[in-house]
Amino acid sequence: MTARTHRAYDRFMGETCTHLAEIKGDARPSADGCEDCLRIGGTWVHLRMCRTCGHVGCCDSSPAKHATAHFHGTGHPIVSSFEPGENWLWCYQDEAGFRLDGLEDFSHT
Ligand SMILES: [Zn+2]
Ligand SMILES: [Zn+2]
Ligand SMILES: [Zn+2]
Repeated sequence: MTARTHRAYDRFMGETCTHLAEIKGDARPSADGCEDCLRIGGTWVHLRMCRTCGHVGCCDSSPAKHATAHFHGTGHPIVSSFEPGENWLWCYQDEAGFRLDGLEDFSHT
């Protein structure tokens, strides 16, 4: 399964996003909601999951924009939607959205 996944990444490499090596297949969601909002009692609109470390943060429609803040704080460039039924990825470096075959989907409950 790991080998198949890597081939899918390689095929995509260079087409839109050059940061796919930052996607860690063993990243798991850090929380079932925005972990930073949960800590401070904030609210969010939609959730994004960092594909490097699993940090779950809130989107740019949310008051605190924690997913973007996580990118600026850590340099982790790629998030995926953490919304049920959505499987797109977003690269902050390239400001480009895309999909990848063979990548495990995660979403909040
Ligand atoms: Zn990129
Ligand atoms: Zn948040
Ligand atoms: Zn991260």
